Amino acid sequence: MELYERGENAYIKAYGRYDTILEKGEGVYVYDTKGQKYLDFYAGIGVNSLGHCYPKYIEKLEKQLHTLNHVSNYFYTPVSIEAAEAVVKATKLDAVFFCNSGAEATEGALKLARKYYYLKHGNADSEIISFNHSFHGRTTGSVKLTGNPHYQEAFGPLIEGVKYGTLNDLNSVEALINDKTAAIIVEPVQGEGGVNPCNKEFLQGLRKLCDANDIVLILDEVQCGMGRTGTIMTYFQYDIMPDIVCLAKGLGCGVPVGAFVANKKVAKAMEPGDHGSTYGGNPFVCSAVKAVFEIIEEENLIAHVQQISQYLIKQLDGVVEEFDMVDSHRGLGLMQGLVINGSAKPIVKGLLDEGVIVVTAGENVVRMLPPFIINEAHVDEYIDKLKNVLKNLK
Ligand SMILES: *Cc1c(COP(=O)(O)O)cnc(C)c1O
Repeated sequence: MELYERGENAYIKAYGRYDTILEKGEGVYVYDTKGQKYLDFYAGIGVNSLGHCYPKYIEKLEKQLHTLNHVSNYFYTPVSIEAAEAVVKATKLDAVFFCNSGAEATEGALKLARKYYYLKHGNADSEIISFNHSFHGRTTGSVKLTGNPHYQEAFGPLIEGVKYGTLNDLNSVEALINDKTAAIIVEPVQGEGGVNPCNKEFLQGLRKLCDANDIVLILDEVQCGMGRTGTIMTYFQYDIMPDIVCLAKGLGCGVPVGAFVANKKVAKAMEPGDHGSTYGGNPFVCSAVKAVFEIIEEENLIAHVQQISQYLIKQLDGVVEEFDMVDSHRGLGLMQGLVINGSAKPIVKGLLDEGVIVVTAGENVVRMLPPFIINEAHVDEYIDKLKNVLKNLK
């Protein structure tokens, strides 16, 4: 049997998969089983910020595998403590809980916010405000936070008490607030929903609303965090602090790890027994977290993201100008979306045929999440191939 058919037989078909089977990766390129080379401009949905098989990263993980892999969360390990300190320092918050994915990070943040509310009110009847076109994960809690009925329809009953505001519309949020509102959760740049950045006034306005009503502000930086937008946390560009931030994708750069990180005021609501995870933040994944922070710093990758994203943006300006089919581009740093007049799917498929991997966001956006290690030659290669695809679709 063909490899692809074997996959189709063995997997639950929750995904529509390409028939390209990827076998190995090196730097910003991946290779399929036929030896075809692809420029990876989506980095496993914003995960592989260091590209593939980054030598220093592998070295550090390998060393940890030979030292200690897993012990459960009833024990600290030196590497888990160092990873926790690195997260706390980078976020400028106070305490972290490690989990295994983005969905678990938002789910855990939700539980922490509810516990904070419960201690204050004595009732477990809180409400949460989320946003239309948001994405927070696929568990029955996080999918309810996800403001997209398409992901929810078949899976009810989901958790109760979630309402949806409109991004960049403070009035829509104010109208939803009442004395049961425990938290507001928002992505500073919506990823899956179409690469939609929050306005500065909006995010600062949410902070003010939360302060005025003792509401927990949860920022979901699972996709936009960890340096992707040009600062280690995107909220530093908005001059606000969240009460809780959720991290995952770029936190482990390829090993499954997520985290929610809170300030003291909120963090202290959780007591032993309130939450847990068997695997969460084991020594192996924590060696990855630690390695990621070290490499980002040693290699000055944030400054590189700032500089190379300016180059990418300049080239995207040219694409918007040249092709009527392309309406605009938007985003922050190396989280960019090309807004298409029409469906983005034929462009993503066309690019795959040309040897470039990107992904859609919503119906009409081509989403680019390249590894931080791209250089100008990679951007040029991408833009050339993108222009070829757009010409052929004209
Ligand atoms: C991907 C994503 C999630 C979910 O992460 P998983 O690891 O797939 O569970 C949550 N929030 C945002 C903003 C994401 O982009």
